[in-house]
Amino acid sequence: MATLIDGKAIAQKVKEEVALGSQKLVAEFGEEARPNMTLVLVGSDAVSKRLVDLKAKDCEAAGITPTVIAMSESTSEEKLLRLIDRLNRDDDVKAILCQLPVPEHISTKRLLAAIAPEKDVDGFSARIDSDDYDVAACTPAAVMRMLRESGVDVSGKHCVVVGRSNIVGKPMAIQLLLNDATVTVCHSKTADLAEHTRRADILIVAVGRPRFITGDMVKEGAVVIDVGMNYIEGRPVGDVDFASVEPKASKITPVPGGVGPMTRAYLLVNALTLAERKTK
Ligand code: NDP
Repeated sequence: MATLIDGKAIAQKVKEEVALGSQKLVAEFGEEARPNMTLVLVGSDAVSKRLVDLKAKDCEAAGITPTVIAMSESTSEEKLLRLIDRLNRDDDVKAILCQLPVPEHISTKRLLAAIAPEKDVDGFSARIDSDDYDVAACTPAAVMRMLRESGVDVSGKHCVVVGRSNIVGKPMAIQLLLNDATVTVCHSKTADLAEHTRRADILIVAVGRPRFITGDMVKEGAVVIDVGMNYIEGRPVGDVDFASVEPKASKITPVPGGVGPMTRAYLLVNALTLAERKTK
């Protein structure tokens, strides 16, 4: 039986660290040094709205001041980019988050590129050619922390990442490389996926398909990290078929209660780092 990697418990620890960091910052530099985060929500998607509410609550609990800006579904790309430009220039705004997905008439690529890197709390603009990763993409940073907290050293291990998105798969591969893992990245064009996944000491799955990775695709004793968040009849389901994979894995993340809460916690870590940078 695999040991569960408890994302909720580790996230609680991370949030307490951030709250302490925020307190220290204010104690040393005064109230104006307090970290803050402006959360932009476009449209009325219920899941996005709930996520923004949760992130704002997380901020408050960690001593970070949240500001939510809600815009209508029909907001034009031009208007949204003007808002981002205004936030970029506003010296009081330390961190900007734009909740994804945005309505289809808005280019996600142009939107994310418009957010100033020094205010990019999601860490999407972290440079891949740099190991100066103090503001890293939240999900990969969260996964690295979960591995560390579980006593898993990635150095020299064969890590297989399934998925190559700009927000999870690619930055995940980079962070593993920076920590001396040997990395294979798989995607929808990969021939014989199972042949790769079966060779993984550490398997990280970010595909967006419910229960996609099954027990026969996993090596005995592998560490399995399930980034996936899918909904079946309103219930969250990962990309890993927990029932068949768990008996083979040595450690595994659950869904819910795995990577999700840790990603949110790492948003707070990044907000604190951005605020700290402003004091230097
Ligand atoms: P994307 O849809 O952007 O990327 C999915 C990736 O999976 C793509 O690279 C795609 O390949 C690959 N893929 C699709 N089908 C297959 C297949 N049959 N075999 C192998 N690879 C395949 O998703 P994201 O990276 O944004 O998210 C992935 C999952 O993680 C989603 O469930 C999302 O909800 C979840 N997520 C969870 C977070 C959390 O905090 N827990 C945070 C972020 C995401 P190709 O590039 O070739 O199309």
